[in-house]
Amino acid sequence: HAKESGRNTYRFFTETMNANALERLQVENQLRGALERRELVLHFQPQVDLVSGAIVGAEALLRWESAVLGFVPPGRFIPIAEESGLIVPIGRWVLREACSLARGWYSRGIRGVVVGVNISALQFRRDDIVANVRDALAETGLPAECLELELTESLLMEHAEDVLETVQRLKGLGVRLSIDDFGTGYSSLSYLKRFEVDRLKIDQGFVRDMVEDPDDAAIVRAIIQLGRSLKLDVIAEGAESRPQVEFLMQEGCREAQGYYFCPPVTGDVFIDMVERGFVGSSPRVMHLQRLA
Ligand code: C2E
Ligand code: MG
Ligand code: MG
Ligand code: MG
Repeated sequence: HAKESGRNTYRFFTETMNANALERLQVENQLRGALERRELVLHFQPQVDLVSGAIVGAEALLRWESAVLGFVPPGRFIPIAEESGLIVPIGRWVLREACSLARGWYSRGIRGVVVGVNISALQFRRDDIVANVRDALAETGLPAECLELELTESLLMEHAEDVLETVQRLKGLGVRLSIDDFGTGYSSLSYLKRFEVDRLKIDQGFVRDMVEDPDDAAIVRAIIQLGRSLKLDVIAEGAESRPQVEFLMQEGCREAQGYYFCPPVTGDVFIDMVERGFVGSSPRVMHLQRLA
């Protein structure tokens, strides 16, 4: 009996593994031609100033509609893009496309909207990220202060001299830097002293339960306090509900992004929101202004 169930377990694992391996292979194969087939697009999620109600930025987020696989969420294809190295050409495209669209908004007279671009560790190490950023700004004409690069804690934690040098050269271009998913990486904070970052993005995992869970609340408070002491901007990710937004305002968190305000939307929808004046037309932001 034991032998039989062992065999079944083995077969189950093998089938699952094969299915996973096959799926990964399919994703990788399709992703390889995705840029050429123009299957990748950027969506933008507004970032809101909780005091003024203004949209102060947008995070560029990749969306992939594969002709063969249908819609594939980033959580499924980004890790594969990283393992296969495909993130390098894709990341280069994201940077260029985000700058190009943001330059278009700038030309329409929009000021004070910073576009955030996620930079993967591999792209940072393998590619000439400084040259890519410099070229993207030069070719599109986007002012450097309108671009923010989102880096991860684990990348900055690598005690490599060249990471420090690259970050310094990026700052030299005049772009903004933020730390994505802040609080989920390693516990050493010494890198905050070594790197000139502008903003901490509180990981949505802490924001999700902070209203009910005192531990998450303590962590969120600590990050807000840390930002205040080090003079860094702080933005909360994944704000979904009114109690969460009220909590953030109470604790002095200045900025937030999340479904409560707006999901990631196309560039056209985003810019329409900015031009119509998100402040006046969004009951959610009007509610914020009443609180302020
Ligand atoms: P991230 O950079 O931390 O992006 C935030 C994620 O949270 C996005 O997921 C966004 O859609 C989602 N989100 C926003 N508001 C809420 C909310 O209120 N509740 C919840 N539950 N989620 C919310 P998305 O678009 O699926 O992207 C997932 C991850 O994929 C990103 O996490 C980022 O690490 C990666 N990614 C996306 N686009 C790119 C890219 O262009 N380059 C690189 N290297 N990575 C990317
Ligand atoms: Mg991000
Ligand atoms: Mg994040
Ligand atoms: Mg994340």
